[in-house]
Amino acid sequence: MRVGEWWARTTERLRKHVIADAGIEAEVLLRHAMDMGRADFFAALDVQLDPPRKELADRLLQRRVAGEPLAYILGNREFYGLDFCVNPSVLVPRQETELLVDAVLEHYKERPDQEPVIADVGTGSGAIAIAIARHLPRAAIYATDSSHEALMVADVNRRRHSVTDRVQLVQCDLLEALREPIDVIVSNPPYLTTEELTRGQPEIRREPPHALDGGKDGLDITRQLLRQARGHLRPEGLIVVEIAPQQLGPVMQMGTEAFPAAAVSFSLDLLDEPRIVSIMFPESTSRLTRRRQANDDHASPDAAGEVHALMPG
Ligand code: GLN
Repeated sequence: MRVGEWWARTTERLRKHVIADAGIEAEVLLRHAMDMGRADFFAALDVQLDPPRKELADRLLQRRVAGEPLAYILGNREFYGLDFCVNPSVLVPRQETELLVDAVLEHYKERPDQEPVIADVGTGSGAIAIAIARHLPRAAIYATDSSHEALMVADVNRRRHSVTDRVQLVQCDLLEALREPIDVIVSNPPYLTTEELTRGQPEIRREPPHALDGGKDGLDITRQLLRQARGHLRPEGLIVVEIAPQQLGPVMQMGTEAFPAAAVSFSLDLLDEPRIVSIMFPESTSRLTRRRQANDDHASPDAAGEVHALMPG
């Protein structure tokens, strides 16, 4: 069988299984089996597919048709222009999650001299933490996850992208084990409702449920995170969390109630749906708070030490 023929047949087969982008997925599977770049692949459409390669391509196709996400089959997923190792211990990074990284980078565009301490809560493959680390060379990042297996994947990725010294992996529940004040809390928490998860596509059921299941209304973890954030965030801090579009109202309200002094806003994804909520503390308030804190610190040397140790410069 010629390469082009396998490609066409496979595209058809994937289409029958209601897999979107069937043509691209078929091409990617075949290129993976042939270990070929795009240009070589298109130049080889008329070439006979040799039997071992065809066998491998068929096996990969079988796994895909059985509902395994493409990213797990390839062992890789691109996120924010970087290649990440993924396996069934971690959620496959989604394109819309890149918005979280955008929000954090945007925040520091006007503050290039700062050395922020950032926490990526529920890091999974480490994609968010590592993408931020690559773009903010002065940032120190905690990447937390309750799953040891997930952190092993994040470890491979932080090595791959040479940010091991600035991305610290912490196995804990949300922010629980973090001791130093945090400037930015960023998170793609599990936010599907348990029902959505059981009704979802087969691919979603291959992903770790603890990375997707947010309970009855999908907000169990987001609620806990905002509750914990109070004790960990610096006065001038920023929180950015990913949400499902229908959670916008409840999460905006939760943010306003938990942090009355903060500005709560949201951003839209490529489909024009609300996808992230940002909770930002105005700088003017923060400077006052910092001054007040500095005064209080005279009475409490321990706290002063901790705050100053984190001051930029
Ligand atoms: N965006 C994912 C989905 O709909 C859910 C991710 C999450 O729960 N954090 O598949």
